[in-house]
Amino acid sequence: MQNSQQGKNNQIKELLAEMEEYAYFNHVPIIKKPAAMILSDITLSLQPQNVLEIGTAIGYSTLLLASNSKPDTRIITLEIDEERARTADIFISKSPYRDNIKIITGDAASILDKVGKNFDLVFIDAAKGQYVKYLKLVQPLLNSRGIIAADNVLFRGYVESAEKPPRRYKTIVRRLREYIRLINDETQFVSKIYYEGDGLAVSQKQI
Ligand code: SAM
Repeated sequence: MQNSQQGKNNQIKELLAEMEEYAYFNHVPIIKKPAAMILSDITLSLQPQNVLEIGTAIGYSTLLLASNSKPDTRIITLEIDEERARTADIFISKSPYRDNIKIITGDAASILDKVGKNFDLVFIDAAKGQYVKYLKLVQPLLNSRGIIAADNVLFRGYVESAEKPPRRYKTIVRRLREYIRLINDETQFVSKIYYEGDGLAVSQKQI
């Protein structure tokens, strides 16, 4: 007979597969497999009590975060798109983590002063042009030694390329370079960028 943890693991595996299919057919961007594996490993070893996610989409990474945390970990996740937030709610309600997760709909930058503090892990995966703003707003909400993981920081290779990015990406690329400059300030963070996927920056707060 299956024990309850095994049952939960199977349930979440099936749900994540269903969400991958939904995301594919409905063109919803979700975290790519290599970055998802790194994020899962980081969550598993950190065992955060309080998690903040910026950019829920349909709740795929939210459930990855939940399933690699403690049974009583609290997750707050922010999403600007109402339809996506509703879809996330439907998927999350089907999961064993429904009571641990709170979805807040709205523009993250204007909600961040209302989400509380003492976060051990923050996952940033929303508007790339806003990452510097998110970093500045989130830093005071993060516990000492807490971690900020930010996806897509290398943005299609443009961020570290010596070539000029296409005009439409100029601002995003300039702002992501600024994000990387800030997380490399060693008085504030120790950071590592994983090159898998679109680049995942992982920064541990030092003070
Ligand atoms: N983290 C999700 C996952 O891996 O399953 C994927 C998130 S998707 C790449 C980015 C999401 O951020 C989109 O659903 C988008 O609507 C949302 N977003 C964009 N700008 C936002 C903002 N200003 N505030 C909150 N969410 C925002």
